[in-house]
Amino acid sequence: MDHTPLPPPRLLVIDDDTILLRRIMKRLERHGYQVTGAANGMEGLEKARQLPFDLIMVDHRMPMMGGLEVIRHLGELEEAPPVVMVTGAGDEAVAVEAMKLGASDYIVKDSDGVYLEIFPVVIDQALGRRRLLRDKLRAEAELRKSEERYRLLFTRMLDGFVLLDSTPDSTCPDCSFRFMEINPAFGRLFAVTPETLLGHCVCRLGLISGEAWFPYLEQVRDSGEGCQFELPIDSDRLFLQVAAYIPTPGRIAVIFEDVTARKRYEAELERLATTDPLTGVSNRADFFTRVENEVARLSRYQGTSSLLMLDLDHFKQVNDRYGHTTGDEVLVAVATTIRQSLRQVDVVGRYGGEEFVVLLPETGLTEARIVAERIRQRVSELEVPAGAELVTLTTSCGVALLEAGGEGKVVRVLEQADQALYRAKRGGRNRTELHGGQPDQTSPSPEAATLARRQE
Ligand code: GH3
Ligand code: MG
Ligand code: MG
Repeated sequence: MDHTPLPPPRLLVIDDDTILLRRIMKRLERHGYQVTGAANGMEGLEKARQLPFDLIMVDHRMPMMGGLEVIRHLGELEEAPPVVMVTGAGDEAVAVEAMKLGASDYIVKDSDGVYLEIFPVVIDQALGRRRLLRDKLRAEAELRKSEERYRLLFTRMLDGFVLLDSTPDSTCPDCSFRFMEINPAFGRLFAVTPETLLGHCVCRLGLISGEAWFPYLEQVRDSGEGCQFELPIDSDRLFLQVAAYIPTPGRIAVIFEDVTARKRYEAELERLATTDPLTGVSNRADFFTRVENEVARLSRYQGTSSLLMLDLDHFKQVNDRYGHTTGDEVLVAVATTIRQSLRQVDVVGRYGGEEFVVLLPETGLTEARIVAERIRQRVSELEVPAGAELVTLTTSCGVALLEAGGEGKVVRVLEQADQALYRAKRGGRNRTELHGGQPDQTSPSPEAATLARRQE
């Protein structure tokens, strides 16, 4: 706050009676005003034009130019100060005329000079009214400015913005939020024309699956606290970060930020961090994490799951014979074959170069063996074109049981699956072995391995 004392109000007193003028001036100076005198209307007007006065007192009866005439001329000034008219007794009609011309008050002279006592009161009142008016004008100007700033923000902001009326309303049985303001960005986000929604309840915006944001609006209204939430629209066509708050009682302001691009980018980063770029299955780290989660789940809910470890047979020969690019294509085809042989909940990972791992939740060894055999069979039936030839190959598979366990459990079970796989290799390849099980006698003969058949 500014505490510097205000300068004394500057008054101009216009009266042709110079003795009276001096008396009035002296009296007003004693009251702390800074007073200038003028002995006739012309002189008064001249001074009013040149100096900034806070108030002018003018006598009615003056030769040449009377008080009313002075007031009329003052009205032509750009910023005329308030004027108090001083009239003689019986001239009340003149006072009324003066007020019509814009005078802010009048004083009626009496013969014994008592009226001089009320000068300061009338002056203070007139000055007070002027101050009030100025404050009001200033406040209105401020409001207009902040309103303009709000409008600018409202129309230019990239985020969608709506102001809702949240007072009880019986027009809609489903909700009690009505659109009061909608900015252009909101219209663009939801492909709607704001004017068609204004005054209607938010149910009208069926597009944005109204129900999805109702609970949040109700929460904000009932708790009085703002909240933030995410809103996927049209099965992730659009992803919005939403903030709702109460700007003033009975209203809820909602801001919708389009974070679709950011969400997609994050999802892509996540995908890149967890998948094998060649085959699209889980990478080693992600597979490990998922098996760890499965062990944690088994520790809590019991049950048994299984792990498969597959290693393509004589894959080196595929590369040697057909080149690395074809080798890559074969790896992709094998990954697809494995994926297609499994349930949705099963997880496939690329464990190393031509080694794949599979997590089979809620699957015991017997069932896991059937799955492993199905994969082995389908891989052996694969035919991957390589120029005029078709590449065929086989795979060996090790199976181990996954149960509840503490730290190191995952590594141990992977080792067990690897040991079973090693037995399958030693037993002649293109076969499945179980950890802790008997050597497999049922798989087809060994060394039916990587062979290429001539294309018919
Ligand atoms: P085994 O039956 O004993 O498993 O024989 P193998 O030839 O498959 O075994 P080995 O581990 O000696 O060879 C694996 C080969 O897999 C060696 C490598 O060139 C190839 N390989 C590993 N990663 C990739 C890859 O990303 N692309 C291609 N084309 N080949 C790969
Ligand atoms: Mg290998
Ligand atoms: Mg191999």
